[in-house]
Amino acid sequence: MTTTVVTGGAGFLGSHLSDRLLAEGHRVLCIDNLITGNLANIAHLEGREDFRFIEHDVSKPLFVDDEIDNVLHFASPASPIDYLELPIQTLKVGSLGTHNTLGLAKQKQARYLLASTSEVYGDPLIHPQPESYWGNVNPVGPRGVYDEAKRFAEALAMAYHRYHGIETRIVRIFNTYGPRMRPRDGRVVPAFIDQALRGEPLTVFGDGSQTRSFCYVSDLVDGIYRLLLSDEVEPINIGNPREMSVLEFAETIIEHTGSRSEITHKPLPVDDPKIRQPDISKASALLGWSPRVELEDGLASTVAYFEKLLAAEAI
Ligand code: UDP
Repeated sequence: MTTTVVTGGAGFLGSHLSDRLLAEGHRVLCIDNLITGNLANIAHLEGREDFRFIEHDVSKPLFVDDEIDNVLHFASPASPIDYLELPIQTLKVGSLGTHNTLGLAKQKQARYLLASTSEVYGDPLIHPQPESYWGNVNPVGPRGVYDEAKRFAEALAMAYHRYHGIETRIVRIFNTYGPRMRPRDGRVVPAFIDQALRGEPLTVFGDGSQTRSFCYVSDLVDGIYRLLLSDEVEPINIGNPREMSVLEFAETIIEHTGSRSEITHKPLPVDDPKIRQPDISKASALLGWSPRVELEDGLASTVAYFEKLLAAEAI
């Protein structure tokens, strides 16, 4: 049986990834310190023989007795609000956490997959962003703690590959949404859906002309799984190229939820990227991957999830 470690396994992406790995027949060791992860995301896996949860901060060394085939490093605060509130933890999990988990992969001769991010491109000067673009990151701005930690993590993974011969994979994840996002993690999808469902104004930052491209979580997980099985060592973008402005996205959410919410504007956060859209030609050519879920369908299940959370709150 293939055993796979997922750090951040109780988080939004980590828990969906764990579901997919279990469905593919893997045994999953889920590691999380629960600072932004949530046990509710893995409650449905409790009691399974092929699933184990270990509460641990991977910024500290970790020792696992089991044979391990894959280590997938997904632990990190991942929303701008989270990494503003947890700047040191964000830097540590991207640097020390990557070092510790690469050390685990080396000891176990396991394959390693790093969750990197479109944030390595910073406020990009090239559009859409191909993997060959080196980025435009402000190292000392408030987002620098996340961006630079992930850039360091990529460098470290490549060094372990080149120097120790570890089989490493790097996925650059673009904006992703779906059930199990935290309503108040500050990201635009949960923020707008939560506001629309409560009838509160949707908070568009700046004039809303900045763009993002939103990928549904099952598409993202499929791309990651294909990457894990592939031979590609260099980074690969996974994301949905359908780009829209934040203002357009706010209008879409209002329409989709049938909400009577209005739109209000708030100041644009420092270093907020003005444009973002993945160039996915590499994922398409090497992994035979492209996203399948339309925004409208992805939003339907995401909104249903948030409606359930709201209903539970009312009880
Ligand atoms: N945003 C917004 N209102 C919110 C939250 C976010 O207008 O309540 C904007 C934010 O300024 C950014 C975009 O939505 O331009 C996406 O923000 P998010 O925090 O989801 O992630 P990012 O892509 O910036 O990492």
